Amino acid sequence: MGAAKPEHDEARRLSESRRSYVAEAFEAYNRGLLNGVTALLSKDVTAILAGATVLHGREGLVTDLRRRMEEDLADGVRLRLTNVLASRDLFVIEGAFENPPDDPFHCPPAMVEVHLLRGGLTDRHVIVVGARVAGASTAMLLARRGLKVLVVDRTTFPSDTLSTHQVQLPGVARLKRWGLLDRVIASGAPAARHVRFDPGLVVLECRFPAYQGVDALYSPRRTVLDGILVDAAREAGA
Ligand SMILES: Cc1cc2nc3c(=O)[nH]c(=O)nc-3n(C[C@H](O)[C@H](O)[C@H](O)COP(=O)(O)OP(=O)(O)OC[C@H]3O[C@@H](n4cnc5c(N)ncnc54)[C@H](O)[C@@H]3O)c2cc1C
Repeated sequence: MGAAKPEHDEARRLSESRRSYVAEAFEAYNRGLLNGVTALLSKDVTAILAGATVLHGREGLVTDLRRRMEEDLADGVRLRLTNVLASRDLFVIEGAFENPPDDPFHCPPAMVEVHLLRGGLTDRHVIVVGARVAGASTAMLLARRGLKVLVVDRTTFPSDTLSTHQVQLPGVARLKRWGLLDRVIASGAPAARHVRFDPGLVVLECRFPAYQGVDALYSPRRTVLDGILVDAAREAGA
């Protein structure tokens, strides 16, 4: 975030005003007052917490935050603001946990919160940057769990990228689990069930072992595979 300098007056002004608000909210938090932190949350906010726990709704999130705050403060942990960057629809908070000297690993050293706003209140908590195999799959899975996800990419789809195309068995098993393998097969990508290594002196020939319900590799072009995943993410609501 240090590299992302606000380029516009409005972003600079918003960042400064958010920073002073969050600084006060963090000071209050260290005195056991949660209101400043929670005032920004909309009633249907969705949050992903450590351990991939997903909480829907302000009430449950506030209860969880209060419990964590009380436990951490009692254990001697304090929260320090390190940076805030804001625009009209988004703000990012970076902070540091100051752990007690006798328990230096009580909390992770740093925290980051990404707030996507609607009507000035935090509405979405997930932004995925990059919408190819990793990003589109992540966005799809989070959206299928009911999260509000924004996924962005600087390129457009369908488009190619530097890669050969072999999806190994664990990848094929995931596509099947996600209900997308049929689309890959329907695109015309043939199944490969045998492999042959022929370095000269010996020849190794075998069949791929069955793995989680699949026994073949597929090699869809990235224009096809990435498009299928982007479509699935969109269908899930990302
Ligand atoms: C020559 C070659 C052959 C390969 N062969 C195989 C193979 O046969 N099988 C296999 O499984 N893997 C193969 N790989 C590896 C595979 O290509 C990568 O692991 C895979 O592409 C990683 O996917 P990804 O979604 O993480 O990232 P990428 O496919 O690199 O996608 C990243 C996306 O993020 C976007 N992005 C990045 N930064 C930003 C930003 N700041 N703002 C907005 N958008 C952004 C980019 O536009 C891009 O669309 C090969 C790789 C190479 C180079």
